[in-house]
Amino acid sequence: MNYVLRRFIAYYKPYKKIFFFDLFCATVISLVDLAFPQILRYLNATLYLDSKEVIYKSLGFLFVGLLIMYIIRAACRYYVSAQGHIMGAYMERDMRQDLFEHYEKLSFSYYDKHDTGTMMAKLVSDLFDICEFAHHGPENLFISILKIAGSFICLFMIHAQLAFYLFIVTCIMIVFSYRQNRKMHATFLDNRKKIGNINSTLQDTLAGIRVVQSYTNEEIEKEKFTRSNNKFLSSKIHNYTVMGSFYSGNNFFQGLLYLVTLVVGGYYIANGSLQPVALATFALYINIFVSPIEILVEFAEMFQKGFSGFQRFIEVMDIEPDIVDAKHAKVYTAEKGKVEYKHVNFTYDEGSNHKVLKDISFTIEAGKSIAFVGPSGGGKTTICSLLPRFYDVTSGEIIVDGMNIKDMTLRSLRESIGIVQQDVYLFQGTIRENIAYGNPLASEEEIIDAAKKANIHDYIMSLEAGYDSYVGERGSRLSGGQKQRISIARVFLKNPKILILDEATSALDNESERYIQKSLEKLSENRTTITIAHRLSTIKNADEIIVIQEGEIAERGSHEELLKENGVYANYYRLQFQNEELN
Ligand code: ADP
Ligand code: MG
Repeated sequence: MNYVLRRFIAYYKPYKKIFFFDLFCATVISLVDLAFPQILRYLNATLYLDSKEVIYKSLGFLFVGLLIMYIIRAACRYYVSAQGHIMGAYMERDMRQDLFEHYEKLSFSYYDKHDTGTMMAKLVSDLFDICEFAHHGPENLFISILKIAGSFICLFMIHAQLAFYLFIVTCIMIVFSYRQNRKMHATFLDNRKKIGNINSTLQDTLAGIRVVQSYTNEEIEKEKFTRSNNKFLSSKIHNYTVMGSFYSGNNFFQGLLYLVTLVVGGYYIANGSLQPVALATFALYINIFVSPIEILVEFAEMFQKGFSGFQRFIEVMDIEPDIVDAKHAKVYTAEKGKVEYKHVNFTYDEGSNHKVLKDISFTIEAGKSIAFVGPSGGGKTTICSLLPRFYDVTSGEIIVDGMNIKDMTLRSLRESIGIVQQDVYLFQGTIRENIAYGNPLASEEEIIDAAKKANIHDYIMSLEAGYDSYVGERGSRLSGGQKQRISIARVFLKNPKILILDEATSALDNESERYIQKSLEKLSENRTTITIAHRLSTIKNADEIIVIQEGEIAERGSHEELLKENGVYANYYRLQFQNEELN
């Protein structure tokens, strides 16, 4: 609790001045409001009893005095409403920035376990709650307490007994409001959940609309949607009924306060202990402290919501990224690109015993190529993920150019490795932007050159907007082969020493594959290359071929050697060869 609070307060730090001035303005507003009934009472008891001439003469002063008072209040109100909110917005920005930067640092294993939808919700709605609270919380608490306490102090000074009765009613009112308010917020929360459900159903359907339509399952999707839509409606109805009783209850208690003032006050007027003027003052004070009661009750709820939101925020912020630069990490300059795996073992889940990789050792000399083949799920992709340290080896070591990769800065290591995968991720934007992702500093000529090498330039030029054509969401306007060639152009631009081709052509038809194969060959010239491929024809020329089965090296050697050995590889090869003959 203390710890979280401290972290929260830290976000106020840059805006300390605004914060304290905000509270100061809030104080001024409260004091001005509290002063009015006193002024009225004072005037009624003194000046207004005087002669006509005296009153006339004083009105000018009164006018100027009150005018100044209300101008000051208006200025303060402006500051609280504008600057106070702006401060909240600044804090929200800071937290969101911190969270985003933190997300960027978290490793693959975090993303394996958390879904991006909830992570996004944290960035957007949780933080909004927190910052509404950050601004309104302290200020509301301050103003409300000041007004309620101030009013009662004045009332007790005027007539203690009557004030006491009002106090009792007020206490009951606070308890009632607080309970109603909790109920109301529970329904708000339920509401949020329901609208969240609608959103995720909607997103799922729209993202998969091509599948929906091709299976003509619109009816099923419609029913799913109708269900969550109706659930939202009933939650909303519940919400509004509770809200109705909250406001009507509050209203009733306000009436009760006036009732007590008039009836009990009448009694004290009758027995001579209270002036009728003082009774009017009572009524005015009730006006002042009634709305702060609502605000105070709101605060309790807001505090809970904001605070638990912030707690969730801190939980995420406190997750240490498990893959970071070592203290002594050095910049690796990718001179040659010799890669060595030494007795590498790996499990994804540290708790489990399931070893995904068992004692993997191999060496690729600089500029040479190695190929992995084997059944899917064997661990080929995993081997490749270890090289850029997307995951860290469980035991063993990986050496690049004589240096353990854990001793390099992540940035320099990853800059020297290029990856082409089966799934291509294109960002929203133009083709140019997507290619330039490989090297944001690249010039126009370099981009075009990379596109030419990737065999995609001619296609791009055939588009109306050329390099400025939009790729659509995740590249939906491009074919698989075209997307793949853009990703190859990206790697050309990045120009890494080490290249990983993980089933880069597996998703493509024979025709596109042959086409892309040429650019891949060009890409791997003078680079240390790791290739994973299903079609053995593409890897025949690799300097070494390693067969991976269930996380272990089953066979290794050149194409000819493996054929001679007449083992797993030879078997694969014959199978594929027959198929290709049939085609
Ligand atoms: P391949 O590329 O040879 O098809 P992978 O390296 O993708 O095989 O997978 C090897 C094994 O690791 C599989 O059993 C797979 O289920 C498991 N695996 C792959 N990725 C993850 C992950 N992110 N988290 C947990 N297990 C994984
Ligand atoms: Mg794979």
